[in-house]
Amino acid sequence: MARESFDVVIVGGGMGGLNLAALLTNEGKRVLVVERSGPEGLGGRAASGKIGNAAIDNGIKGLILAGTQDEVYRRIGKTMPENVCRWTNSGEVHMGGRWRKLDDMIRGSLAEFVKVYVDTAKNWSFEEIEQLDDVSVEKFVTERTNDPDVIDFFRYMGWLFGGTLSVPHDYSAGMLFYSVKKQLEHLGHFPSQSYWVKGGSGAIAGPLIEAIEERGGEIRTNTSVSHIVIEDGRVRGVEIECGDRRVPTELYDTQRIDAPVVVSAVAIWDIFNILSEDDLSPWYADRLRHLHRKTLNDATLTYGHDDPDLWDHSGPRWVQEGPVTGRPWCAASLEFSDEPGQYETTFWIQTGWWEKPNLFQMREASHKIALNQLFDDWEEDIKQLFPGVVEKAHWRHRSFGPATLIETPGNVGRSLIDIEAEGVDGLYLIGERTSAAKIMGVYGSAQVALEASRLILERSESATA
Ligand SMILES: Cc1cc2nc3c(=O)[nH]c(=O)nc-3n(C[C@H](O)[C@H](O)[C@H](O)COP(=O)(O)OP(=O)(O)OC[C@H]3O[C@@H](n4cnc5c(N)ncnc54)[C@H](O)[C@@H]3O)c2cc1C
Repeated sequence: MARESFDVVIVGGGMGGLNLAALLTNEGKRVLVVERSGPEGLGGRAASGKIGNAAIDNGIKGLILAGTQDEVYRRIGKTMPENVCRWTNSGEVHMGGRWRKLDDMIRGSLAEFVKVYVDTAKNWSFEEIEQLDDVSVEKFVTERTNDPDVIDFFRYMGWLFGGTLSVPHDYSAGMLFYSVKKQLEHLGHFPSQSYWVKGGSGAIAGPLIEAIEERGGEIRTNTSVSHIVIEDGRVRGVEIECGDRRVPTELYDTQRIDAPVVVSAVAIWDIFNILSEDDLSPWYADRLRHLHRKTLNDATLTYGHDDPDLWDHSGPRWVQEGPVTGRPWCAASLEFSDEPGQYETTFWIQTGWWEKPNLFQMREASHKIALNQLFDDWEEDIKQLFPGVVEKAHWRHRSFGPATLIETPGNVGRSLIDIEAEGVDGLYLIGERTSAAKIMGVYGSAQVALEASRLILERSESATA
Protein backbone atom coordinates (compact mmCIF):
# COMPACT_ATOMS: atom_id res chain seq x y z
CA MET A 1 0.00 0.00 0.00
CA ALA A 2 1.31 3.46 -0.91
CA ARG A 3 2.38 5.57 2.02
CA GLU A 4 0.07 8.50 2.81
CA SER A 5 1.48 11.97 2.39
CA PHE A 6 0.34 15.51 3.21
CA ASP A 7 1.78 19.01 2.82
CA VAL A 8 1.63 19.52 6.57
CA VAL A 9 1.01 17.13 9.49
CA ILE A 10 -0.03 18.78 12.75
CA VAL A 11 0.34 16.73 15.93
CA GLY A 12 -2.38 17.72 18.43
CA GLY A 13 -5.93 18.97 17.89
CA GLY A 14 -5.99 21.59 20.67
CA MET A 15 -6.66 25.25 19.85
CA GLY A 16 -3.09 25.74 18.58
CA GLY A 17 -3.30 22.83 16.13
CA LEU A 18 -6.85 23.62 14.98
CA ASN A 19 -6.17 27.34 14.50
CA LEU A 20 -3.11 26.56 12.39
CA ALA A 21 -4.86 23.83 10.39
CA ALA A 22 -7.75 26.19 9.61
CA LEU A 23 -5.36 28.93 8.45
CA LEU A 24 -3.31 26.58 6.26
CA THR A 25 -6.26 24.75 4.65
CA ASN A 26 -7.66 28.19 3.88
CA GLU A 27 -4.49 28.81 1.86
CA GLY A 28 -4.92 25.55 -0.08
CA LYS A 29 -2.50 23.33 1.87
CA ARG A 30 -3.28 19.61 2.32
CA VAL A 31 -3.27 19.30 6.08
CA LEU A 32 -3.69 16.35 8.45
CA VAL A 33 -4.36 16.95 12.16
CA VAL A 34 -3.63 13.93 14.37
CA GLU A 35 -5.31 13.97 17.80
CA ARG A 36 -4.88 11.21 20.37
CA SER A 37 -8.25 11.70 22.11
CA GLY A 38 -11.70 11.07 20.63
CA PRO A 39 -13.73 13.70 18.70
CA GLU A 40 -15.04 15.10 22.01
CA GLY A 41 -11.43 15.96 22.95
CA LEU A 42 -10.88 18.26 19.94
CA GLY A 43 -10.00 21.66 21.38
CA GLY A 44 -7.64 19.97 23.90
CA ARG A 45 -7.52 21.99 27.08
CA ALA A 46 -10.31 24.14 25.61
CA ALA A 47 -12.67 21.18 25.05
CA SER A 48 -15.93 20.95 27.00
CA GLY A 49 -18.27 18.27 28.23
CA LYS A 50 -21.78 18.45 29.70
CA ILE A 51 -23.50 17.74 32.98
CA GLY A 52 -27.20 17.81 32.08
CA ASN A 53 -27.63 21.05 30.15
CA ALA A 54 -24.62 22.75 31.71
CA ALA A 55 -21.23 23.01 30.03
CA ILE A 56 -18.22 21.84 31.98
CA ASP A 57 -14.75 22.58 30.73
CA ASN A 58 -11.63 20.49 30.42
CA GLY A 59 -9.47 23.49 31.24
CA ILE A 60 -9.99 27.06 30.16
CA LYS A 61 -13.28 28.86 30.83
CA GLY A 62 -12.70 32.49 29.86
CA LEU A 63 -10.66 33.68 26.88
CA ILE A 64 -8.02 36.26 27.59
CA LEU A 65 -7.31 38.52 24.61
CA ALA A 66 -10.17 37.14 22.54
CA GLY A 67 -9.28 39.68 19.82
CA THR A 68 -6.51 37.44 18.50
CA GLN A 69 -8.82 34.44 18.21
CA ASP A 70 -11.28 36.74 16.41
CA GLU A 71 -8.55 37.53 13.87
CA VAL A 72 -8.18 33.80 13.00
CA TYR A 73 -11.97 33.48 12.56
CA ARG A 74 -12.01 36.61 10.40
CA ARG A 75 -9.36 35.16 8.05
CA ILE A 76 -11.22 31.88 7.62
CA GLY A 77 -14.66 33.51 7.29
CA LYS A 78 -16.12 32.33 10.62
CA THR A 79 -17.46 34.14 13.69
CA MET A 80 -16.85 33.89 17.41
CA PRO A 81 -19.55 32.18 19.51
CA GLU A 82 -21.67 34.44 21.75
CA ASN A 83 -20.08 35.97 24.85
CA VAL A 84 -21.96 35.11 28.06
CA CYS A 85 -19.83 37.24 30.39
CA ARG A 86 -21.93 40.09 31.78
CA TRP A 87 -19.31 41.53 34.13
CA THR A 88 -18.16 45.03 34.17
CA ASN A 89 -14.83 45.96 35.69
CA SER A 90 -15.86 44.93 39.18
CA GLY A 91 -14.94 42.33 41.71
CA GLU A 92 -14.44 41.92 45.41
CA VAL A 93 -11.48 40.71 47.36
CA HIS A 94 -11.46 39.01 50.77
CA MET A 95 -8.40 40.33 52.56
CA GLY A 96 -7.57 40.59 56.25
CA GLY A 97 -10.91 39.00 57.17
CA ARG A 98 -13.20 41.39 55.23
CA TRP A 99 -14.56 41.95 51.74
CA ARG A 100 -13.30 45.00 49.82
CA LYS A 101 -14.44 46.25 46.44
CA LEU A 102 -11.63 46.35 43.89
CA ASP A 103 -12.95 49.62 42.46
CA ASP A 104 -12.84 51.31 45.88
CA MET A 105 -9.26 50.15 46.49
CA ILE A 106 -8.10 51.63 43.22
CA ARG A 107 -10.19 54.80 43.42
CA GLY A 108 -8.64 55.79 46.77
CA SER A 109 -5.09 55.59 45.36
CA LEU A 110 -5.71 56.44 41.75
CA ALA A 111 -2.66 58.59 41.07
CA GLU A 112 -0.24 56.00 42.49
CA PHE A 113 -2.08 53.20 40.72
CA VAL A 114 -1.83 55.01 37.39
CA LYS A 115 1.87 55.67 37.93
CA VAL A 116 2.78 52.05 38.74
CA TYR A 117 0.37 50.06 36.60
CA VAL A 118 -1.30 52.08 33.86
CA ASP A 119 1.70 54.21 32.83
CA THR A 120 4.04 51.20 32.64
CA ALA A 121 1.70 49.22 30.41
CA LYS A 122 0.83 52.22 28.24
CA ASN A 123 4.10 54.07 27.92
CA TRP A 124 6.84 51.47 28.08
CA SER A 125 7.72 49.78 24.77
CA PHE A 126 7.65 45.97 24.48
CA GLU A 127 11.47 46.04 24.34
CA GLU A 128 11.64 48.00 27.60
CA ILE A 129 9.11 45.67 29.21
CA GLU A 130 11.18 42.63 28.17
CA GLN A 131 14.03 44.02 30.27
CA LEU A 132 11.78 43.26 33.28
CA ASP A 133 11.47 39.54 32.50
CA ASP A 134 13.82 38.60 35.33
CA VAL A 135 12.53 41.25 37.77
CA SER A 136 9.88 40.24 40.29
CA VAL A 137 6.64 42.23 40.47
CA GLU A 138 7.23 42.77 44.17
CA LYS A 139 10.58 44.43 43.50
CA PHE A 140 9.13 46.50 40.67
CA VAL A 141 6.11 47.70 42.68
CA THR A 142 7.72 48.32 46.04
CA GLU A 143 10.54 50.32 44.42
CA ARG A 144 7.93 52.64 42.90
CA THR A 145 5.35 53.12 45.63
CA ASN A 146 4.66 52.59 49.30
CA ASP A 147 0.92 53.11 48.95
CA PRO A 148 -0.60 50.12 50.84
CA ASP A 149 -3.69 49.91 48.58
CA VAL A 150 -1.60 49.72 45.43
CA ILE A 151 0.63 47.04 46.98
CA ASP A 152 -2.52 45.19 48.11
CA PHE A 153 -3.92 45.39 44.59
CA PHE A 154 -0.88 43.59 43.20
CA ARG A 155 -0.87 41.19 46.13
CA TYR A 156 -4.48 40.16 45.81
CA MET A 157 -4.27 39.78 42.05
CA GLY A 158 -1.59 37.22 42.94
CA TRP A 159 1.12 39.03 41.03
CA LEU A 160 3.27 39.21 44.12
CA PHE A 161 2.83 35.46 44.51
CA GLY A 162 3.54 33.95 41.15
CA GLY A 163 0.47 33.67 38.98
CA THR A 164 -2.90 35.27 38.58
CA LEU A 165 -4.06 33.89 41.91
CA SER A 166 -1.71 32.03 43.12
CA VAL A 167 1.37 30.22 44.41
CA PRO A 168 4.15 31.46 46.68
CA HIS A 169 6.72 32.53 44.13
CA ASP A 170 6.77 36.02 42.79
CA TYR A 171 5.55 36.75 39.28
CA SER A 172 7.78 38.18 36.53
CA ALA A 173 7.11 41.91 36.02
CA GLY A 174 8.10 41.49 32.35
CA MET A 175 5.45 38.82 31.79
CA LEU A 176 2.79 40.81 33.65
CA PHE A 177 3.27 44.05 31.72
CA TYR A 178 3.80 42.21 28.43
CA SER A 179 0.37 40.57 28.73
CA VAL A 180 -1.34 43.74 29.89
CA LYS A 181 0.18 45.73 27.02
CA LYS A 182 -0.87 43.01 24.53
CA GLN A 183 -4.42 43.26 25.87
CA LEU A 184 -4.35 47.01 25.32
CA GLU A 185 -3.03 46.50 21.80
CA HIS A 186 -5.63 43.90 20.80
CA LEU A 187 -8.72 44.90 22.72
CA GLY A 188 -8.13 48.57 23.43
CA HIS A 189 -8.80 48.26 27.17
CA PHE A 190 -7.12 47.07 30.35
CA PRO A 191 -7.77 43.50 31.57
CA SER A 192 -11.15 43.45 33.19
CA GLN A 193 -13.56 41.35 31.23
CA SER A 194 -12.59 38.24 29.38
CA TYR A 195 -14.72 36.45 26.86
CA TRP A 196 -16.73 33.44 28.11
CA VAL A 197 -18.43 31.66 25.26
CA LYS A 198 -21.94 30.25 25.31
CA GLY A 199 -21.83 26.48 25.49
CA GLY A 200 -18.47 26.38 27.30
CA SER A 201 -14.99 26.87 25.91
CA GLY A 202 -15.39 23.88 23.53
CA ALA A 203 -17.68 26.02 21.39
CA ILE A 204 -14.66 27.97 20.12
CA ALA A 205 -13.25 24.85 18.44
CA GLY A 206 -16.44 24.19 16.40
CA PRO A 207 -15.96 26.86 13.67
CA LEU A 208 -12.32 25.79 13.21
CA ILE A 209 -13.21 22.11 12.74
CA GLU A 210 -15.91 23.14 10.25
CA ALA A 211 -13.50 25.33 8.30
CA ILE A 212 -10.80 22.61 8.15
CA GLU A 213 -13.25 19.99 6.87
CA GLU A 214 -14.96 22.35 4.39
CA ARG A 215 -11.58 23.06 2.78
CA GLY A 216 -10.45 19.45 2.43
CA GLY A 217 -8.29 19.17 5.55
CA GLU A 218 -8.41 15.93 7.55
CA ILE A 219 -8.70 15.48 11.30
CA ARG A 220 -7.89 12.00 12.61
CA THR A 221 -9.00 11.45 16.21
CA ASN A 222 -8.23 8.49 18.50
CA THR A 223 -4.80 8.44 16.87
CA SER A 224 -1.53 8.97 18.73
CA VAL A 225 1.66 10.11 17.13
CA SER A 226 4.44 7.83 18.34
CA HIS A 227 7.22 10.15 17.17
CA ILE A 228 8.20 12.70 14.59
CA VAL A 229 10.54 11.28 11.95
CA ILE A 230 13.71 13.30 11.40
CA GLU A 231 16.55 12.24 9.08
CA ASP A 232 19.67 14.16 8.12
CA GLY A 233 18.49 17.36 9.85
CA ARG A 234 15.17 17.39 8.00
CA VAL A 235 11.68 16.41 9.06
CA ARG A 236 10.22 13.54 6.98
CA GLY A 237 6.85 12.86 8.58
CA VAL A 238 5.40 11.09 11.61
CA GLU A 239 4.89 7.54 12.85
CA ILE A 240 1.41 6.96 14.23
CA GLU A 241 0.43 4.13 16.57
CA CYS A 242 -1.99 1.61 15.09
CA GLY A 243 -3.62 -1.70 15.89
CA ASP A 244 -4.71 -2.96 19.29
CA ARG A 245 -2.71 -4.07 22.27
CA ARG A 246 -3.87 -7.48 23.49
CA VAL A 247 -1.68 -7.40 26.62
CA PRO A 248 -0.32 -4.31 28.38
CA THR A 249 3.29 -5.00 27.48
CA GLU A 250 2.61 -5.33 23.77
CA LEU A 251 4.12 -2.64 21.57
CA TYR A 252 1.91 -0.79 19.13
CA ASP A 253 2.57 -1.22 15.44
CA THR A 254 3.37 2.08 13.82
CA GLN A 255 2.58 3.48 10.43
CA ARG A 256 4.49 6.20 8.62
CA ILE A 257 2.84 9.31 7.16
CA ASP A 258 5.09 11.50 5.01
CA ALA A 259 5.16 15.29 5.12
CA PRO A 260 7.82 17.93 4.38
CA VAL A 261 6.43 20.05 7.24
CA VAL A 262 5.49 18.72 10.69
CA VAL A 263 4.12 20.90 13.45
CA SER A 264 4.15 19.79 17.05
CA ALA A 265 1.06 21.38 18.63
CA VAL A 266 1.22 19.27 21.80
CA ALA A 267 1.80 21.10 25.06
CA ILE A 268 5.45 21.70 25.88
CA TRP A 269 5.31 19.22 28.79
CA ASP A 270 4.44 16.44 26.28
CA ILE A 271 7.11 17.36 23.77
CA PHE A 272 9.67 14.68 24.58
CA ASN A 273 7.00 11.99 24.09
CA ILE A 274 7.12 12.66 20.35
CA LEU A 275 10.49 14.26 19.75
CA SER A 276 13.96 12.96 20.45
CA GLU A 277 16.19 15.66 21.91
CA ASP A 278 19.13 14.08 20.06
CA ASP A 279 17.60 15.48 16.87
CA LEU A 280 17.61 19.07 18.12
CA SER A 281 20.48 21.46 18.51
CA PRO A 282 21.83 21.13 22.08
CA TRP A 283 20.93 24.65 23.27
CA TYR A 284 17.40 24.40 21.89
CA ALA A 285 16.93 21.01 23.60
CA ASP A 286 18.37 22.46 26.85
CA ARG A 287 15.85 25.29 26.87
CA LEU A 288 13.00 22.87 26.28
CA ARG A 289 14.24 20.65 29.12
CA HIS A 290 14.52 23.66 31.42
CA LEU A 291 10.96 24.83 30.74
CA HIS A 292 8.92 21.81 29.89
CA ARG A 293 7.58 20.61 33.26
CA LYS A 294 7.55 23.90 35.19
CA THR A 295 3.79 24.13 35.08
CA LEU A 296 1.19 26.23 36.82
CA ASN A 297 -1.70 23.85 37.47
CA ASP A 298 -5.35 24.69 37.99
CA ALA A 299 -7.63 22.89 40.38
CA THR A 300 -11.21 23.74 39.45
CA LEU A 301 -14.33 23.16 41.51
CA THR A 302 -17.70 23.84 39.89
CA TYR A 303 -21.25 23.62 41.27
CA GLY A 304 -24.58 23.70 39.40
CA HIS A 305 -27.24 26.04 40.87
CA ASP A 306 -30.66 27.50 40.31
CA ASP A 307 -31.13 29.61 43.47
CA PRO A 308 -30.85 33.27 42.35
CA ASP A 309 -30.03 34.48 45.87
CA LEU A 310 -26.80 32.51 46.17
CA TRP A 311 -24.81 34.83 43.92
CA ASP A 312 -25.16 38.38 42.56
CA HIS A 313 -23.32 37.68 39.25
CA SER A 314 -21.65 41.10 39.35
CA GLY A 315 -18.04 39.98 39.03
CA PRO A 316 -15.35 37.66 40.32
CA ARG A 317 -14.47 37.18 43.97
CA TRP A 318 -10.88 36.80 45.12
CA VAL A 319 -9.95 35.25 48.43
CA GLN A 320 -6.47 36.05 49.63
CA GLU A 321 -6.21 33.35 52.25
CA GLY A 322 -8.80 30.58 52.56
CA PRO A 323 -9.61 30.00 56.26
CA VAL A 324 -8.92 26.22 56.03
CA THR A 325 -6.60 25.87 53.00
CA GLY A 326 -4.59 29.01 53.81
CA ARG A 327 -4.38 29.44 50.03
CA PRO A 328 -5.51 32.17 47.67
CA TRP A 329 -8.36 31.28 45.34
CA CYS A 330 -10.84 32.88 43.03
CA ALA A 331 -14.54 32.43 42.26
CA ALA A 332 -16.99 33.42 39.56
CA SER A 333 -20.52 32.62 38.41
CA LEU A 334 -21.64 32.12 34.83
CA GLU A 335 -24.78 31.23 32.96
CA PHE A 336 -23.44 28.42 30.78
CA SER A 337 -26.63 26.40 30.73
CA ASP A 338 -29.30 26.36 28.02
CA GLU A 339 -31.96 26.48 30.75
CA PRO A 340 -33.05 29.86 32.13
CA GLY A 341 -32.18 30.40 35.81
CA GLN A 342 -29.48 27.73 35.86
CA TYR A 343 -25.92 28.83 36.49
CA GLU A 344 -22.56 27.56 37.66
CA THR A 345 -20.29 28.84 40.38
CA THR A 346 -16.69 28.01 39.63
CA PHE A 347 -13.68 28.20 41.95
CA TRP A 348 -10.00 28.04 41.06
CA ILE A 349 -6.85 27.29 43.01
CA GLN A 350 -3.48 27.33 41.30
CA THR A 351 -0.65 25.03 42.33
CA GLY A 352 2.98 25.05 41.25
CA TRP A 353 5.11 22.32 39.72
CA TRP A 354 7.22 21.97 42.90
CA GLU A 355 4.23 21.13 45.09
CA LYS A 356 2.35 18.02 46.08
CA PRO A 357 0.02 17.18 44.30
CA ASN A 358 2.39 17.21 41.37
CA LEU A 359 0.65 16.79 38.07
CA PHE A 360 3.32 14.51 36.68
CA GLN A 361 3.25 12.18 39.69
CA MET A 362 -0.48 11.59 39.82
CA ARG A 363 -0.08 7.83 39.53
CA GLU A 364 1.37 7.87 43.04
CA ALA A 365 -1.12 7.41 45.88
CA SER A 366 0.37 10.19 48.02
CA HIS A 367 -0.28 12.74 45.27
CA LYS A 368 -3.86 11.56 44.77
CA ILE A 369 -4.46 11.74 48.52
CA ALA A 370 -2.98 15.28 48.63
CA LEU A 371 -5.23 16.39 45.78
CA ASN A 372 -8.40 15.02 47.39
CA GLN A 373 -7.41 16.67 50.67
CA LEU A 374 -6.95 19.99 48.88
CA PHE A 375 -10.48 19.76 47.43
CA ASP A 376 -12.01 18.73 50.78
CA ASP A 377 -10.33 21.61 52.67
CA TRP A 378 -11.33 23.99 49.92
CA GLU A 379 -15.01 23.06 50.27
CA GLU A 380 -14.70 23.99 53.95
CA ASP A 381 -13.29 27.40 52.90
CA ILE A 382 -16.24 27.88 50.55
CA LYS A 383 -18.82 26.85 53.16
CA GLN A 384 -17.47 29.56 55.49
CA LEU A 385 -17.20 32.37 52.93
CA PHE A 386 -20.14 31.53 50.62
CA PRO A 387 -22.77 29.78 52.76
CA GLY A 388 -25.20 27.68 50.72
CA VAL A 389 -23.05 27.30 47.59
CA VAL A 390 -21.79 23.82 48.49
CA GLU A 391 -24.91 22.72 50.35
CA LYS A 392 -27.47 23.77 47.70
CA ALA A 393 -25.63 22.55 44.60
CA HIS A 394 -27.36 20.11 42.22
CA TRP A 395 -24.07 18.76 41.04
CA ARG A 396 -20.35 19.15 41.72
CA HIS A 397 -17.39 18.80 39.39
CA ARG A 398 -13.71 18.63 40.36
CA SER A 399 -10.78 18.80 37.92
CA PHE A 400 -7.03 19.32 37.91
CA GLY A 401 -4.80 20.08 34.94
CA PRO A 402 -1.86 22.09 33.58
CA ALA A 403 -2.93 25.65 32.75
CA THR A 404 0.41 26.95 31.52
CA LEU A 405 4.10 27.34 32.32
CA ILE A 406 4.79 29.20 35.52
CA GLU A 407 5.74 32.83 35.06
CA THR A 408 8.30 33.36 37.77
CA PRO A 409 11.20 35.67 36.93
CA GLY A 410 13.63 33.90 34.61
CA ASN A 411 11.35 30.97 33.78
CA VAL A 412 9.49 32.19 30.73
CA GLY A 413 10.16 35.52 29.05
CA ARG A 414 13.57 35.43 27.43
CA SER A 415 13.96 31.66 27.92
CA LEU A 416 11.14 30.85 25.52
CA ILE A 417 11.93 28.87 22.40
CA ASP A 418 11.50 29.89 18.77
CA ILE A 419 8.77 28.10 16.86
CA GLU A 420 11.13 26.99 14.11
CA ALA A 421 13.03 24.15 15.73
CA GLU A 422 16.72 24.97 15.70
CA GLY A 423 18.65 22.25 13.87
CA VAL A 424 15.73 20.61 11.99
CA ASP A 425 14.34 21.88 8.67
CA GLY A 426 10.57 21.74 8.34
CA LEU A 427 9.84 21.24 12.07
CA TYR A 428 7.74 23.80 14.00
CA LEU A 429 6.83 23.79 17.69
CA ILE A 430 3.70 25.75 18.55
CA GLY A 431 2.48 24.19 21.82
CA GLU A 432 2.30 26.46 24.80
CA ARG A 433 4.59 28.40 24.93
CA THR A 434 7.00 30.01 22.50
CA SER A 435 8.59 33.35 21.77
CA ALA A 436 5.86 34.06 19.19
CA ALA A 437 3.21 33.94 21.93
CA LYS A 438 4.77 35.00 25.18
CA ILE A 439 1.53 34.92 27.07
CA MET A 440 -0.63 31.96 27.88
CA GLY A 441 -3.99 30.79 26.81
CA VAL A 442 -6.13 30.71 23.75
CA TYR A 443 -4.71 34.09 22.82
CA GLY A 444 -1.31 32.37 22.76
CA SER A 445 -2.66 29.52 20.61
CA ALA A 446 -4.16 31.92 18.08
CA GLN A 447 -1.13 34.22 18.06
CA VAL A 448 1.36 31.41 17.55
CA ALA A 449 -0.81 29.83 14.83
CA LEU A 450 -0.90 33.13 12.92
CA GLU A 451 2.88 33.38 13.10
CA ALA A 452 3.48 29.71 12.20
CA SER A 453 1.15 29.90 9.20
CA ARG A 454 2.97 33.00 7.97
CA LEU A 455 6.35 31.26 8.27
CA ILE A 456 5.21 27.96 6.73
CA LEU A 457 3.63 29.71 3.72
CA GLU A 458 6.67 31.97 3.27
CA ARG A 459 9.10 29.01 3.39
CA SER A 460 7.03 26.93 0.94
CA GLU A 461 6.78 29.86 -1.51
CA SER A 462 10.53 30.34 -1.49
CA ALA A 463 11.07 26.57 -1.94
CA THR A 464 8.83 26.58 -5.06
CA ALA A 465 10.39 29.75 -6.51
C1 LIG B 1 -7.58 24.42 34.14
C2 LIG B 1 -7.12 25.35 33.04
C3 LIG B 1 -7.52 26.68 33.06
C4 LIG B 1 -7.14 27.53 32.03
N1 LIG B 1 -7.60 28.82 32.05
C5 LIG B 1 -7.40 29.60 30.97
C6 LIG B 1 -8.04 30.87 30.88
O1 LIG B 1 -8.80 31.26 31.75
N2 LIG B 1 -7.81 31.63 29.78
C7 LIG B 1 -7.02 31.19 28.74
O2 LIG B 1 -6.90 31.88 27.72
N3 LIG B 1 -6.38 29.99 28.82
C8 LIG B 1 -6.57 29.19 29.90
N4 LIG B 1 -5.99 27.95 29.97
C9 LIG B 1 -4.98 27.60 28.96
C10 LIG B 1 -5.58 27.18 27.64
O3 LIG B 1 -6.52 26.15 27.83
C11 LIG B 1 -4.42 26.68 26.79
O4 LIG B 1 -3.43 27.69 26.71
C12 LIG B 1 -4.80 26.37 25.37
O5 LIG B 1 -6.03 25.67 25.31
C13 LIG B 1 -3.64 25.56 24.81
O6 LIG B 1 -3.93 25.04 23.55
P1 LIG B 1 -2.86 24.13 22.82
O7 LIG B 1 -3.48 23.72 21.54
O8 LIG B 1 -1.53 24.79 22.77
O9 LIG B 1 -2.63 22.85 23.76
P2 LIG B 1 -3.65 21.67 24.18
O10 LIG B 1 -5.02 22.17 24.32
O11 LIG B 1 -3.02 21.01 25.36
O12 LIG B 1 -3.63 20.70 22.91
C14 LIG B 1 -2.66 19.74 22.69
C15 LIG B 1 -3.33 18.52 22.08
O13 LIG B 1 -2.33 17.58 21.71
C16 LIG B 1 -2.85 16.29 21.90
N5 LIG B 1 -1.73 15.35 21.95
C17 LIG B 1 -0.74 15.27 22.89
N6 LIG B 1 0.12 14.27 22.57
C18 LIG B 1 -0.30 13.75 21.40
C19 LIG B 1 0.19 12.70 20.57
N7 LIG B 1 1.28 12.01 20.88
N8 LIG B 1 -0.49 12.41 19.43
C20 LIG B 1 -1.61 13.11 19.09
N9 LIG B 1 -2.13 14.10 19.85
C21 LIG B 1 -1.48 14.42 20.99
C22 LIG B 1 -3.61 16.41 23.21
O14 LIG B 1 -4.57 15.36 23.36
C23 LIG B 1 -4.26 17.79 23.04
O15 LIG B 1 -5.57 17.72 22.49
C24 LIG B 1 -6.34 27.06 30.98
C25 LIG B 1 -5.93 25.71 30.96
C26 LIG B 1 -6.33 24.86 31.98
C27 LIG B 1 -5.93 23.39 31.92
